[in-house]
Amino acid sequence: MSGASETSTRICEKEGCNQPGKYRAPKAPDVLDDFYWFCKDHVREYNQQWNFFHGTTEAEMNAQMSKDKVWERETKSFVDPEQRAWSRLGIEDPHQVLGGNATQNPGRVKAGGRKLPPTERRAIEILEAKDDWTKTEIRKAYKALIKVLHPDINGGDRSQEEQLQQVVWAWDQIKQSRNFK
Ligand SMILES: [Zn+2]
Repeated sequence: MSGASETSTRICEKEGCNQPGKYRAPKAPDVLDDFYWFCKDHVREYNQQWNFFHGTTEAEMNAQMSKDKVWERETKSFVDPEQRAWSRLGIEDPHQVLGGNATQNPGRVKAGGRKLPPTERRAIEILEAKDDWTKTEIRKAYKALIKVLHPDINGGDRSQEEQLQQVVWAWDQIKQSRNFK
């Protein structure tokens, strides 16, 4: 679509550019004997636009553009940016697809990468544990938190009672879970 001509003495036709216009580019797809003359950078830029629109009818372009709009709206409904990233790859549920041993997730990897019920996930967070810990290990973390939070043990400070209740609830979830050894 374009070629260099060392003999040309023209100036690049891109507005504001003073480089020698050594490269020619046809003015329109169906006008192949009338050329613009550009410098190397601007002939490349021109060709990129050309390639983008070439062979695409206006109707197809409009369809493509409205599809982009729909796509945008669809992706906005995902709250989680990680999930949105995966959905761009056509994967709607990365944890489901990748399974319990997923180590390939390029996004935020949760410790162990296990699929847990939300209650157990939350419980693990509350207990400041990791989801690949055993019940014995998590119990240790639980005990340590109780020690800090329980008014009978921490000298009557009741200000952390709510947190204590959460910790007790959390251990309850893990205790009866089959997801932990
Ligand atoms: Zn130029």
